[in-house]
Amino acid sequence: MEKGLNIPVLDIPRIVIIGGGFAGLKLAKGIDSRLYQTVLIDKNNYHTFQPLMYQVASSGLEPDSIAYPLRKVFKDKKRFHFRMADVQNIDEASKTLQTSIGPMQYDVLVIATGADSNFFGMENVKKYSMPMKNLVESLDLRSRILTNFEKALNTTDLAEQEALMSFVIVGGGPTGVELAGALAELKKQILPKDYPDLDIRRMQIHIVEAADRLLANMSKDASEKTEKFLKKMEVNIWLGTQVKDYDGKEVITSKHVFNSKTLVWAAGVQGVPPAGLNATLVRGNRILTDEFNAVVEKEGIYAIGDVAQIKSDAAPNGHPMLASVAGQQGSMLAKNLNALARKKPMQPFIYKDKGTMATIGRNLAVVDLPFLSFSGMFAWLTWMFVHLMLLVDYRSRMVVFVNWAWSYLNYDKGTRLIVRSERKK
Ligand SMILES: Cc1cc2nc3c(=O)[nH]c(=O)nc-3n(C[C@H](O)[C@H](O)[C@H](O)COP(=O)(O)OP(=O)(O)OC[C@H]3O[C@@H](n4cnc5c(N)ncnc54)[C@H](O)[C@@H]3O)c2cc1C
Repeated sequence: MEKGLNIPVLDIPRIVIIGGGFAGLKLAKGIDSRLYQTVLIDKNNYHTFQPLMYQVASSGLEPDSIAYPLRKVFKDKKRFHFRMADVQNIDEASKTLQTSIGPMQYDVLVIATGADSNFFGMENVKKYSMPMKNLVESLDLRSRILTNFEKALNTTDLAEQEALMSFVIVGGGPTGVELAGALAELKKQILPKDYPDLDIRRMQIHIVEAADRLLANMSKDASEKTEKFLKKMEVNIWLGTQVKDYDGKEVITSKHVFNSKTLVWAAGVQGVPPAGLNATLVRGNRILTDEFNAVVEKEGIYAIGDVAQIKSDAAPNGHPMLASVAGQQGSMLAKNLNALARKKPMQPFIYKDKGTMATIGRNLAVVDLPFLSFSGMFAWLTWMFVHLMLLVDYRSRMVVFVNWAWSYLNYDKGTRLIVRSERKK
């Protein structure tokens, strides 16, 4: 028995995977347990379906609808061990990880630690804004939004009320667009009924985006449709505008100053490689790997998902930080590691782009498929179907489907509870 962690030492190699996100989950599922012992480490005991976090933040879904216990995913997998721990350091020489629960040795290491918010050195923005990169932050944002309305109700100071009811979202990518749409629906359908003593028409939703269009990674048509839909929903869009500073009250941008108590940061992300790995990091703090996901110039260490960037002519700036890329890399690496153990050749990773989509609100979404773009009701139904199918299990799909159907039929959202105050880091 290995000291401390109660994991048996077997006569087959041990793969340690750091991170049970989209990449780590697919990888761990695909590893052949006759060939390797698998140890999955995550600081949380659950996998998070990040694409629906904005619905948790905007009171559309409960967190357990989009998070799934990792132990349950792997309950039938042999020679598999999950440990809830924070990996603090990698010692390459002794092939040992330093974790919050003790040291752990590996034969093969896979880093799948994902990404976190990047504030581009703006310390005040980091201190006062609300990011949404994990489930806890989504719940913090929900608490902030609802608490703001409770506070707005109790003040007669109009400037204070305006600041409480003004939401500035930085970043016009899918997260910013989807959150803005959800807030606009709250404003139209829910808040006037919850707060009859407040003039909800004074609530303001702003998207601040540095680029010259929303959804810059999608087609121009998708960007234009999204802008049109959002404007119709009374969302203010500030393109070509950069946030410069924020003190918790005033958002200073290159064009305008907003009086707002809530700045949502959905603008930048960067990889979070664990400390101790002496690897080449490229743009966005991502670990450089070869086409087989092997960390460049390292023996037996791989990196996949958001934290990694493949050095390839096909994608000179790396693949986008998307769940689909992470999942495909996890599946491919599992096949390759299984092949390696069987002394068969590995295959290079090739991303199969199945399209991108974003939802804006009721009956409104945009979809870009490799050969076709469409928007509106059909796109919205497509978005819902795809996201339901991507959820980890039948229970989550059923719960989310019932929530969506209920909201659609009743113009209501069921989860407007302030069960805890926000916990800013
Ligand atoms: C709000 C939001 C909306 C998004 N919407 C979409 C979308 O619509 N479509 C899409 O394709 N993509 C979307 N993405 C991006 C997508 O979620 C990521 O690309 C994907 O999660 C990357 O997978 P990953 O496995 O690399 O990392 P993650 O899924 O982030 O998983 C990383 C895991 O590593 C764990 N971890 C990190 N550090 C440590 C450590 N030191 N010790 C132990 N464990 C650690 C974390 O707890 C986490 O479980 C969205 C992301 C966000 C934040």
